[in-house]
Amino acid sequence: MTGEGAARTGGCLCGAVRFDAVPEKPEIDACHCSRCRRWSGGVFLSVPCGTSLDVRGGDALGVHRMSDYGERLFCRTCGSSIAWRMQDGSMSAVAFQAFDDQSGLVFAEEIFIDDKPPHYSFANETRKLTGAQVMAQFANEQGA
Ligand SMILES: [Zn+2]
Ligand SMILES: [Zn+2]
Repeated sequence: MTGEGAARTGGCLCGAVRFDAVPEKPEIDACHCSRCRRWSGGVFLSVPCGTSLDVRGGDALGVHRMSDYGERLFCRTCGSSIAWRMQDGSMSAVAFQAFDDQSGLVFAEEIFIDDKPPHYSFANETRKLTGAQVMAQFANEQGA
């Protein structure tokens, strides 16, 4: 049994990429933005893990940078999505589906809700933030 504050292990489909991460809070967040949807092949469900993400994979660990602040980690061998993080490591959103132990995590928030395609909706009761609200919150946290 792992609780809040404990490191959890995880990895990709083929096992070439493995990680340890400590959830900042026992929460699952969904991102409906078009980048996350293309990248994950679905809705990117992640767990906020702050600076704690420790990922290993050698040559199998791919890093894709689309913006000048964020990067996406994936497995070059099997294609699994692993995490989105700040390039300076100050924040990470680790793929919920990549964790070995998903116990105790609660689906709490949906972001970029205004980018969600109309074809589906989650029935869970969640906080819902638009892209503009997320970027405003992000700017506040950075002290900008
Ligand atoms: Zn893999
Ligand atoms: Zn996104």
